[in-house]
Amino acid sequence: MSALKVSNLSFAYGPREALRQVSFSLPPGQFAALLGPNGAGKSTLIALLTRLYDVQSGDIQIGGCSLHHTPRPALRQLGVVFQQSTLDLDLSVEQNLRYHAALHGLSRHQTDLRVEAELARQALTERRRERVRELNGGHRRRVEIARALLHEPRLLLLDEASAGLDPASRLALNQHIRNLCREQNLSVLWTTHLLDEVQPSDDLLILHQGRLVASGQACALSLEHGGDLGSAFARLTTSSTSGAAAR
Ligand code: ADP
Ligand code: MG
Repeated sequence: MSALKVSNLSFAYGPREALRQVSFSLPPGQFAALLGPNGAGKSTLIALLTRLYDVQSGDIQIGGCSLHHTPRPALRQLGVVFQQSTLDLDLSVEQNLRYHAALHGLSRHQTDLRVEAELARQALTERRRERVRELNGGHRRRVEIARALLHEPRLLLLDEASAGLDPASRLALNQHIRNLCREQNLSVLWTTHLLDEVQPSDDLLILHQGRLVASGQACALSLEHGGDLGSAFARLTTSSTSGAAAR
């Protein structure tokens, strides 16, 4: 069964088409990269997957559950790190986590166990009482990842999670998520506009002007499009896709 299955998904903001007939599926335990330039429709896709917006046309299944017909079991399998941070800067690391656990309906006992486990996994145990405002960007992202994993989702969505970090922290975060994916058998959809966050063995989805212009293993796509991933990406995302949103 797919961790995520998206079928013929289209979405428009009024007259502006943001996604057109997007279909793909992710196998369980796989790191998948969703790569697309600014404005490609990545955040719109995440908004639909998290039910921030209702689907206008098409279908989404998370772990075999329809997001439309059975939203609760579908959303329970999902952890999300949004493009814009949603942490409360004036609360401590631990308070941010406990607040989220309460929203998810975790019991006091479960919350204690899960908060301990995720703080340890994100190497944040010693910072638990610090206010988020005092942390650097990389650590703040780790708090968001800990929070996203508290309810033990099977699928983690990250929307440009490395944006705003310096190059070393950016790649460290990318590597950290890859390790989680491998060790926890977690499925990951890593959204980015930066090619250096993609590795040859990744499942790669390339989004351009709201359309999925290529998908497959990154190394196979490079070969298919004549050499390295950089030129393949440039070729696939410079032409205009007919009927897509004009910018
Ligand atoms: P990405 O995350 O890949 O940068 P987005 O999903 O944010 O792309 O945007 C896709 C397209 O939809 C862009 O043309 C963008 O201008 C447009 N768009 C995004 N959000 C809105 C909105 N709230 N209202 C109108 N248009 C929007
Ligand atoms: Mg975006």
